[in-house]
Amino acid sequence: MLLMEKTIFKRIIDKEIPANIVYEDDDCLAFHDVNPQAPVHVLLIPKKEIASLNQLSEDDSVLLGHLFGVIRELTQKLGLENGYRVVVNCGDDGGQTVYHLHFHILGGRQLGWSPG
Ligand code: 5GP
Repeated sequence: MLLMEKTIFKRIIDKEIPANIVYEDDDCLAFHDVNPQAPVHVLLIPKKEIASLNQLSEDDSVLLGHLFGVIRELTQKLGLENGYRVVVNCGDDGGQTVYHLHFHILGGRQLGWSPG
């Protein structure tokens, strides 16, 4: 039997390691990034184990709609009325380091462009 090691985010979902959680419901969890790149840097993750954008299917469309609704709610709660950025890194070239789908929510300052 192939035993896959849990990702760090799955361990946060399972409450095996702590995180500064700002939102949780049955389908998703949001918490502050441990290495923030902006004054506000929150990660939103589905509880369903989806490795990356490439693993999304049609079955996930309701979940995705829900996640974007939560993003909108969260940005209000986090005081990002002046704007924010949502980033999903995908794969090695995209700079993905944790293979559990996550949305970076960044704000609290004027963000530069383009990405490095
Ligand atoms: P990626 O590079 O995969 O798009 O983003 C992974 C993010 O997860 C990084 O911004 C990194 O700082 C964050 N991260 C990695 N390990 C932990 C952790 O244990 N706790 C928290 N809160 N964030 C983490």
